[in-house]
Amino acid sequence: MASLKLDHIYKKYAGGVVAVSDFCLEIADKEFIVLVGPSGCGKSTTLRMIAGLEEISEGELYIGDKLMNDVAPKDRDIAMVFQNYALYPHMTVYENMAFGLKLRKTPKDEINRRVTEAAKILDIEHLLDRKPKALSGGQRQRVALGRAIVREPKVFLMDEPLSNLDAKLRVQMRTEIGKLHHRLQTTFIYVTHDQTEAMTMGSRIVVMKDGLMQQVDSPINLYNYP
Ligand code: ADP
Ligand code: ADP
Repeated sequence: MASLKLDHIYKKYAGGVVAVSDFCLEIADKEFIVLVGPSGCGKSTTLRMIAGLEEISEGELYIGDKLMNDVAPKDRDIAMVFQNYALYPHMTVYENMAFGLKLRKTPKDEINRRVTEAAKILDIEHLLDRKPKALSGGQRQRVALGRAIVREPKVFLMDEPLSNLDAKLRVQMRTEIGKLHHRLQTTFIYVTHDQTEAMTMGSRIVVMKDGLMQQVDSPINLYNYP
């Protein structure tokens, strides 16, 4: 069964901008899919509709076989990582990672288990007591990933998660995110405007332009496209 299905999805913002038009896509369980295209083509809007942060104007979104259009973000079994980390400055790394679980009333020992395990996977165990301001950009991005991992979601959404990092770190984190996908065995939907990033990371790539899906294919087929 598809992990996610977008069926003729549209987004019309107040003021008349049609940000996404007739978007149709089925995403398989455990797939790593990349949405790529220039700034303003509707990538973020698409991701935000999947997360439930933006209302769908028309069309249907399914996760598994459940219609999601009117389901609250917190009930979607989805976690999202943003480019600007959005860590809470007054909380430690541990507290940042634990926060979402606390809100969901997860028992303390379960929180502890998940945070410890995520920290191990991301190699940030030694940073758990630090505040975000005492971390490098790469470390902050790892914490942001950690905060998503501990939720153990069915689907990971990543919106340009590496665009604030310098070139060298960006290349390193690409590999790490690839490994993370392999290890977690969940569905990843990854947004970027960077073609190299798209071609190296995705098992399938969705090319968007002006709110429309232009192509959907594997990197190798896109590469060989005339
Ligand atoms: P991308 O992520 O590819 O850069 P976005 O999804 O952010 O593109 O934006 C797609 C289009 O929707 C753009 O024309 C943008 O200006 C417009 N847009 C995005 N957010 C809003 C909003 N809240 N209100 C009105 N228009 C918006
Ligand atoms: P409280 O909700 O009582 O303020 P915290 O949210 O700070 O507690 O911590 C919850 C649990 O996580 C506690 O059992 C604490 O021992 C553990 N914990 C907090 N920080 C760390 C850390 N850096 N490394 C490992 N465990 C931690």
